[in-house]
Amino acid sequence: MQDLADKIHYSILASGSGGNATYFETKQHRILIDAGLSGKQLEKRMEAIGRSLDQVEALFVTHEHSDHSHGVGVLARRYGMPVYANTGTWTAMENKVGKIKPEQRCLLEAGKFLDLGDMQVESFAVSHDAAAPQFYQIHHDDQSFVVLTDTGYVSDRVVQMIKNADGYLMECNHDPEMLRMGPYSWPLKQRILGDTGHLSNEEGAGALMDVIGARTKRVFLGHRSQHNNMRSLAHLTVASILENNDFGVDHDFKLADAEPDQPSPLLSL
Ligand SMILES: [Zn+2]
Ligand SMILES: [Zn+2]
Repeated sequence: MQDLADKIHYSILASGSGGNATYFETKQHRILIDAGLSGKQLEKRMEAIGRSLDQVEALFVTHEHSDHSHGVGVLARRYGMPVYANTGTWTAMENKVGKIKPEQRCLLEAGKFLDLGDMQVESFAVSHDAAAPQFYQIHHDDQSFVVLTDTGYVSDRVVQMIKNADGYLMECNHDPEMLRMGPYSWPLKQRILGDTGHLSNEEGAGALMDVIGARTKRVFLGHRSQHNNMRSLAHLTVASILENNDFGVDHDFKLADAEPDQPSPLLSL
């Protein structure tokens, strides 16, 4: 009989253009994806879910943008954890993260699979204006959870890799109309709307339609822009697109919102 505790447990500690971090735990392993907050904030949020950064064995970084890498140096120095990123991201974040011991600098290139024991971390490249951005799918037995934000679009290749996972954190960065009318400069607006920018609410919904499958139990909408989106707008837009396309929102899977300023509860798949 399957042990009920033998699952992937996770918490989205922060999601948004102000900072990102997600925690994953299995029986044997505890990891973080991204550390885009201060060390202090990360400590607080781990405490809020009843965990501590001392217990984290490894940090996986998606790309060098500050909202993903801000706390990388502090975590590496204070907790001595190994940090995984690909070669391009290491080079690009060199000046941002300060001194990290050579033995803590670990490589995980895009499209690779790292087997930690009862947890596997799979990386995949995305289209975003960073040096070599990649996101991650966490596996345990036949369960998996996908973190995918910071991408201008989702390619067929990525769809094939991440289809029918048990859980998703999917980017819904902006409402295109709010972005157009909002305070950003025209070049920045173009950057966000472009192929190497961020997914809009509608594009996030489109990607979800391509990947949600019979296994999918929970979907978080994340990396919401503080200026160009609202929680209710993102949620309603995605829910109505999915419902209009016959997806069983809140029946077949739960649709939830990831927050910038507070961690989700520690959940299980
Ligand atoms: Zn970001
Ligand atoms: Zn980014």
